[in-house]
Formats: sequence, structure tokens, C-alpha cells
Amino acid sequence: MTAAPHIEVEDLVIRYGAVQAVGPVSFTVGAGEQMTLLGPSGCGKTTTLRAVAGLEKPYSGRIRVGGRVMFDGAANINLPAEERGLSMVFQSYAIWPHMTVFENVAYGLKVRRKSAAEIKERVREALALVKMEAFADRHASQLSGGQQQRVAVARACAFSPSVLLFDEPLSNLDAKLRGNMRIELRELQHRLGVTSLYVTHDLEEALAMSDQILVMNAGNIEQNGSPDAIYNCPRTTFVADFVGSSNLIRGKVLRDRSSADTVVIETDGGQVIHAATCGRQYGDTACLSVRTVHLDIADAASAPPQHPNRWPAKIERSVFLGDLTQIHVMWGGRELIIRRAGPQHWQEGQQIVLSADPAHCTLLEDN
Ligand code: ATP
Repeated sequence: MTAAPHIEVEDLVIRYGAVQAVGPVSFTVGAGEQMTLLGPSGCGKTTTLRAVAGLEKPYSGRIRVGGRVMFDGAANINLPAEERGLSMVFQSYAIWPHMTVFENVAYGLKVRRKSAAEIKERVREALALVKMEAFADRHASQLSGGQQQRVAVARACAFSPSVLLFDEPLSNLDAKLRGNMRIELRELQHRLGVTSLYVTHDLEEALAMSDQILVMNAGNIEQNGSPDAIYNCPRTTFVADFVGSSNLIRGKVLRDRSSADTVVIETDGGQVIHAATCGRQYGDTACLSVRTVHLDIADAASAPPQHPNRWPAKIERSVFLGDLTQIHVMWGGRELIIRRAGPQHWQEGQQIVLSADPAHCTLLEDN
């Protein structure tokens, strides 16, 4: 069951002078869902987030949260940020170093003129959420980066906002801490059941944290879907390339062998490859995406059993990268890249059998 939409963005356009930075884009975020805006630097994700927050005035379109109009270009409505009931966590934490942890978290509640007793209780609850109760009296300047970001999250949660907005909140942390904080934030978001919009350019972060991912490119939406759909069924060459590592294979469609569920294409190198259509239309030529982890290799003697996609190929080189090994293979006059877990023992020039499940060879919409 999909949740009722809590954030509704419709035909949103954001301009800086003559330059159109975003749009038109439309999307919805279900109540209690975490949606991530994912894309390369400059694609417009932060600008979109800031428009929802009320920190950027869009050129046109509509933004509603919980049914309330936040922005409507045609009706000339643009609610100020402080009246939107949303909370934002920034990459830079934006906590005040001269205040204690308690004072930082209490700040928004004081501005909202809550009673001293309520402030005390709400701050205690918020600090408990991020496991920072013991630090209430510590000056914020005496905290590590990870602790400062926890305080920023507590501050954002303290007044029970209707939406949490995150702008690359983990980018300033080291890789290990980022991995842990990712899980903590995801659990917190689930526990609170709060709708959130999260911006990142980090693929792993987006896959690990999101219910829905919206992949952006040059101010527009390339694809909107679950992490599984985005990874396993990329729609365009941009998504296939940006979301994980893919081999892109172009070729001519063999009409007499293609069906509603599968498409068969012949590459320039003469190889024939069977792939899943994912319900997409195709013309005379097509482009397929095959993830580097979805190609299998075996030595010619112990090749796996029957597969429609099974070809002789030759090892070019093998590069050990720690957790995985990247193997370059010559196939039909071009190179394919394969990634396997751990060390691998392939020799340069070795003849092998390469195979790929057609379900993991995905037809893209553009070619
Ligand atoms: P990053 O990950 O680098 O922050 P982003 O995807 O969040 O990138 P935005 O910051 O939203 O990208 O920027 C989108 C586009 O709008 C970019 O081309 C950027 O140069 C432009 N832009 C952003 N802010 C302004 C501004 N204040 N004035 C003019 N152009 C701007």
C-alpha cells in the first residue's frame, strides 16, 4: 500500500536570472516516507530542497505540504520558511558553538515561546533520540563532528516538524562514521514516522536510506522509484551510469527473436544478447545496461550450465581493489568490466566463458 502524499511538488520551476536551474519537476512524497534527491553536483537537488523549505523562491509551480499550500506561483502565495512547520539539517551542522547542547536544541522551542517545563521535556526527549542526553551541559564547540550533527538532528526534531529536510548532512563526516550515522538516521526517521526529503550525491547513502529515490540530472528528473527499481531497472543511460557501475551495450534489435518480455540484440562485435524489456518500447536499435556485478565468468572447463547469454571471452587484466576485484574482459571486440568479491585468480590472456542472466540485462529507454 502506498502512503497518501504529504509533500506535493507540481511543475516546479526555479530560475536564477535567465538561467533555469530546476524544472519543471513534479513529485510527491508519501506520509512517513523518506525520499532522496540524488544526482551529480549542480543538478538542482539542493535548490529543490531549499524551495520546499521556503529558503528559495521558485519562478513558478506549486508546493503543498500536508495539504497546505506553501507556494503557488499563479496565486502568488509564498509562505515564509518559519511558517511552514518544516525543519532542516545542514551539511555544516549550523549549531552555535558558544551555546551548550541543551541551549542549541532549546533554541527553536524558545522562539516558539514554549514554557520552560515543556522546553526541558522536549529537549530531553530530542537528545534521547540521538543518544546525547549525557552531553546536555557541554559546549557545542567541545563535541566531535558526529556529535555536533546528532545535536543538529535533535534540534530539528525537537518541535515535532511535519517534515524533516536534510541537505547532505553526513558529507563532513569520515567514511566509517558516515556509514553508522546513515543507519541511525534511517532508524530515527522510521521511529518518528516523519516524512523526510534528503539530498545527497552519494549513491550508497541513497540506496541505504531511502524509500524512494529521485534521480536528477541538469535540473530535471531522470527517474523516480524504489532503491531496488533504480538499481535493477535503470530507465536511461544516465541512471544506469550514475547509479552503480554498468556496462552499456548497444546493438541492432533482432525482431524475429524479440517478444513482449525479452529483447534480443546483436552488437557490432557480432554477439547476440538476450535482455529484459522491463515493459519498455524499443525501435530498430537498443541500448542495454548490465551491472558489473551481474556478469559471471568461469574457466572454459567448468562453465555454468545452459544460459541464452553464454559466450567465449578473454581476460584482459584483473585489478585487486580490496573488497572486490575488477576484471576486464574482451568480448566481441570490446571491453566489458566485471566485479567479483575478494581476490580472483585469472591470468591475462586466459580463455573463459562469460555469462549473464537475461533478467539482469536491462533495456534502456534511450540509446
Ligand atoms: P551540489 O551537490 O554541488 O550542491 P546541487 O545538485 O545541489 O549541487 P544546486 O546547488 O541546486 O545543485 O544548483 C543547481 C544549479 O543552480 C547549478 O547550476 C548552480 O550553479 C545554480 N545555482 C544555485 N544557486 C545559485 C544562485 N544563488 N545563483 C545563481 N545560480 C545558482
